[in-house]
Amino acid sequence: MDEVLDRDIIDAVRRFVDRDVIPVASDLEHRDEYPHALVARMKELGLFGATIPAEHGGLGVGFGTYARLMEELSRGWMSLAGVINSHLIMAYIITHHGTAEQKARFLPAMARGEKRGGLALTEPHAGSDVQSIRTVAKRAGEDYVLSGSKMFITNARHGTMLAVAAKTNPTAKPAYAGISMFAVEKSERGPTVSRNLKKLGYKGIDTCEVLFEDVPVPAANLIGGAEGQGFKQVMSALEVGRINVAARAVGVAQAAFESAIRYSQQRVAFGKPICQHQAVQLMLADMATRLEAARLLVANAARKKDAGERCDLEAGMAKLFASEACAKISLDAMRVLGGYGFTVEFPVERFYRDAPLMMIGEGTNEIQALVIARRLLELHAI
Ligand SMILES: Cc1cc2nc3c(=O)[nH]c(=O)nc-3n(C[C@H](O)[C@H](O)[C@H](O)COP(=O)(O)OP(=O)(O)OC[C@H]3O[C@@H](n4cnc5c(N)ncnc54)[C@H](O)[C@@H]3O)c2cc1C
Repeated sequence: MDEVLDRDIIDAVRRFVDRDVIPVASDLEHRDEYPHALVARMKELGLFGATIPAEHGGLGVGFGTYARLMEELSRGWMSLAGVINSHLIMAYIITHHGTAEQKARFLPAMARGEKRGGLALTEPHAGSDVQSIRTVAKRAGEDYVLSGSKMFITNARHGTMLAVAAKTNPTAKPAYAGISMFAVEKSERGPTVSRNLKKLGYKGIDTCEVLFEDVPVPAANLIGGAEGQGFKQVMSALEVGRINVAARAVGVAQAAFESAIRYSQQRVAFGKPICQHQAVQLMLADMATRLEAARLLVANAARKKDAGERCDLEAGMAKLFASEACAKISLDAMRVLGGYGFTVEFPVERFYRDAPLMMIGEGTNEIQALVIARRLLELHAI
């Protein structure tokens, strides 16, 4: 896709957010209501195919543009970027690791948003420690039979399919060598979406527990057609997820900063707008500086990913810094708004509740720090 078209799609999403998302986001979020109409509009905008290659029916945008799109959505309502994120992580896994037949079967329908995907990695007892998952997939004729349970699965209720990590060899050493990924389409044979989790923020979007009780999955849906490749497949896709989460943090932080700088010029205390008080100016300067640094880190990680270079270090740094910056900026925005910031009359309380997810999702920030340190030690080995 060329630069002009990329600009056009970013502008179209910006207009969609200003006109259709911002006016309704807080209401929907407080009601924890799934945004069907907004998701339908995202489908029309082509966002479900944003990073799916054009040859498979997607927009084929680069990760720099993708990050900008996710930032724009999150400026309006971060949950909307969540609807797209794990769908496109699944599409990334199929694009880069699927067989030709799997690409042809899944990607065009995913790009149109007819098939809507998610990623089922986490289990009740295992999040960061992916290798200790217990879901197993046993070969039975033309099928694999999946049993186990997954936790915190985004898009599980409203999506139609999931990329599921399961052990095809539960005794493999090292454990990761026993993990495979499956494209599982929901059917009356399962899996069962057993409950939606109630959350602090990031509401509206479905985050669910999913049970696999001897669910048959065609062997043709083993991603890439060979067992034991799942860990590698999913790890490469998590770089995309980290760029997405970092971009979401920039979008939420941008919205929080804009609320604060607007309010600071309207609110008068001690005879002058509060933006004339130095304590408020220091906060605004700090917020804007962190925001700019976060945005540049995201752009840098996306640029490396677009160049086909390894970017675990950059994506990890972007995700770590941007999410911590977002948490601080949204809290500072609340300080600037004073008592009103604590009420639901302004969206700042929503930004503050949404911010922590970015510190936890796609690998906690403690895990990001480990990934960063591991890579630094490789690069600086003596
Ligand atoms: C709203 C929401 C949506 C989500 N969506 C999805 C989804 O769609 N698909 C999916 O598969 N998962 C999803 N997740 C799960 C998410 O990826 C995990 O919650 C996250 O990876 C952390 O795993 P955990 O919750 O099991 O925490 P744990 O791994 O139990 O971690 C608990 C604490 O221990 C720390 N810790 C753990 N190991 C180490 C270590 N080696 N060194 C230092 N500290 C460590 C962690 O940093 C954390 O502070 C979602 C989670 C949420 C909250």
